[in-house]
Amino acid sequence: MFDSYLETTLRYHPDRCINCLRCTQVCPHGVFSEGKEHVELVKPAACMECGACANNCPVQAIEVESGVGCAWAMIGAALRGKDMDSGECCCGGETGSCCK
Ligand code: SF4
Ligand code: SF4
Repeated sequence: MFDSYLETTLRYHPDRCINCLRCTQVCPHGVFSEGKEHVELVKPAACMECGACANNCPVQAIEVESGVGCAWAMIGAALRGKDMDSGECCCGGETGSCCK
């Protein structure tokens, strides 16, 4: 397990990764990149702890404490002039929102 990035709560377990690439598709900041056997954690400091990658990983290879709300959804809502109740969160979490 990588644990050398102290900026965020993001933790990646490459030994669990099945290379489905979902995290590379949902991450708004390109924190993960396609790799040969498993994805690579290429920009850990860019993580904003939205939780989308962990919510979409089928094998719990990613852990992150997403805090009190989804920063990506809040920023997106603010940019569009909408509030957080508009249900436009894009993380694909089970409840339709990555906010926990
Ligand atoms: S928590 Fe969000 S920003 Fe951080 S790596 Fe996962 S999808 Fe990307
Ligand atoms: S979502 Fe999980 S299993 Fe899929 S590529 Fe990312 S870390 Fe690996």
